[in-house]
Amino acid sequence: MQGMEHDVAIAGGGASAVLLALQLRRRWPDCRIAIAEPAARLGAGAAYSTRCDEHLLNVPAGGMSADPETPDDFVAYLRAQGFDAGVAARYVPRRRYHDYLAARLRALPGTAPHHARAEAVGYDAQDRALILDSGARLRARALVLATGNRARGLPIPVPAQAAGRAIGAWDHDAVAALPATADVAIVGTGLSMVDAALTLHARGHRGRIVALSRHALLPLPHAAPGEAAVDLDALLALPLRARLRALRGEAEALRRAGRPWQWLMQALRPHGVALWRSLGDGDRARFLRHAVRYWDVHRHRIAPEAAAVLDGMIARGDLVLARARLEAIACEDGRLRLDARAHDGRALCWRVDAALDATGIETRLARSADPLLAALRDAGLVRAGPCGLGLDVEADGAVRDAAGRVHDDLYAIGSLRIGTEWESVAIPELRVQAATIAARLAAAARG
Ligand SMILES: Cc1cc2nc3c(=O)[nH]c(=O)nc-3n(C[C@H](O)[C@H](O)[C@H](O)COP(=O)(O)OP(=O)(O)OC[C@H]3O[C@@H](n4cnc5c(N)ncnc54)[C@H](O)[C@@H]3O)c2cc1C
Repeated sequence: MQGMEHDVAIAGGGASAVLLALQLRRRWPDCRIAIAEPAARLGAGAAYSTRCDEHLLNVPAGGMSADPETPDDFVAYLRAQGFDAGVAARYVPRRRYHDYLAARLRALPGTAPHHARAEAVGYDAQDRALILDSGARLRARALVLATGNRARGLPIPVPAQAAGRAIGAWDHDAVAALPATADVAIVGTGLSMVDAALTLHARGHRGRIVALSRHALLPLPHAAPGEAAVDLDALLALPLRARLRALRGEAEALRRAGRPWQWLMQALRPHGVALWRSLGDGDRARFLRHAVRYWDVHRHRIAPEAAAVLDGMIARGDLVLARARLEAIACEDGRLRLDARAHDGRALCWRVDAALDATGIETRLARSADPLLAALRDAGLVRAGPCGLGLDVEADGAVRDAAGRVHDDLYAIGSLRIGTEWESVAIPELRVQAATIAARLAAAARG
C-alpha cells in the first residue's frame, strides 16, 4: 500500500510484541515494524517488568525459548550469561527473561522496530492508522493487537484518601517500599499475591499480612517432571462433569501409584486448546462458574522454592489466608479499614496500613478498561469471543468484526484469544501464535 510509514503496527509492547517482531523479521527481513507501548522497555509487560530476584518464572527455563524452532534458545542465552547446564530445569528470575527478549530484539539486523512511547486509544480503519494518546498516528498495512494482561481492579470503590495506600500488586517498587512493620491486606490469593508476599518476605517484613479471596486457594507447586498417560480422545468425548470426574480419578490413580498429580496436568498441557474447544457453550459457562478457580491453581503452578517460602510464611503465621469476599474499604484514623464477609457469613474487619490489589486480570471484552479495545468494539471492528472472553478470532489469530467477517489486516496475539483458545497466555503458546501471524503477514506482503 502506498504511503504507509510502517508495514506492521503492534498495539502493546510486552513479550508478545517482541516474539512477533522476531518472527516477522525472520520471514520478512525488511519489514518496517512500529510498536505502541507507553512503558520505556519493550518486552517487559506485566510479567517481566519486575526486577525482583524472588519473582521466578513459573515455567522451567528449558520451556521458555522465544522461538518454537529453536527450543533451547533461552537456555543458550542463559549459558552465555554464565549459568550451568542444569539451568534448563530451573525456574530463573523473571527479570532474566526480559533481558533475554531485549537482547534478541537488539540483535535483529536492520532498522530497529519503531517504539512509539504512547498508549493506543483508537483505530482509523479507512486510513489504517493506530491513533495514539499523544495525538500521533501509526499508519501500517496491518495491525496486531498485543495488549495483553490488564489488572481487573478492586471490585469495590476505593476512597480517594486511600491513594498511596491502596496499591496495585504489580507495582513492585511500591510493594518493596512498604515499611517492614506495615500491616498489609492483599486482595486476591493467586499469582500476583504470591509475588507480593515473596517481595515482603524477601525484605524481612514484620507486620501482619492477610490475603483474602472467595476460595482462598493458593497456586500449587510444580513437581519434578514425569510422564502420565491420558486418553485424550476419551476425555474430549466427555461433557464437563464427567470429564472432571475422570481427571480426578486419574489423579487419584497416580497418587496411589506414588506419583505426583502434576504429571497429569503436564500431560494435558499441550491439549488445553482442544479441551476448551470441545466443550459446548453451556459447559464452558459452567466451567467458568464452578471449576475455573480449582483448574487455575492446578494448571498455573509456581516454582517449588516459591511454594516453600509461602508455606513457611503460613506455618509461622506471617501470612494469614482468609476465605472471604471484600465488601468495603474506608479510611479510618490514618489507616485503611477493610470489611469482608467470610464464606460462612461472618462479618470480618481488618485495619491495615496498606491494601494490595492482587485480583488478577480482566478478560471480558465488555469490561475491558483498554481504550483501544473499547474503541474497536464500539466501532464494530471486533466482537467478544466465547463467554464474552477476549476477542473472537480465527485459528491463525485473524480477528472477526461484529458481523463475523474475518479481517485480513487485523490480528490478535496473547490473552485476547483466551475465549477462543483458553490456553493463550504463556510463552509456549505465544511463540507459536507469533510465528503463525508472521507467516500470514509475510505471505500477504509477497502477494
Ligand atoms: C505476573 C505474571 C507472571 C507470569 N509468568 C509467566 C512465566 O513465568 N512463564 C510464562 O510462560 N508466562 C508467564 N506469564 C504469562 C504472560 O501472560 C506471558 O508470558 C507474557 O508476558 C504475555 O505478554 P503479552 O505481551 O501478551 O502481555 P503483557 O505482558 O500484558 O504486555 C502487554 C503490553 O501492552 C501494553 N498495552 C496494553 N494496552 C495498550 C494500548 N492500548 N496501547 C499501547 N500499549 C498497550 C501494556 O502496557 C503492556 O506492556 C505471566 C503473567 C503474569 C501476569
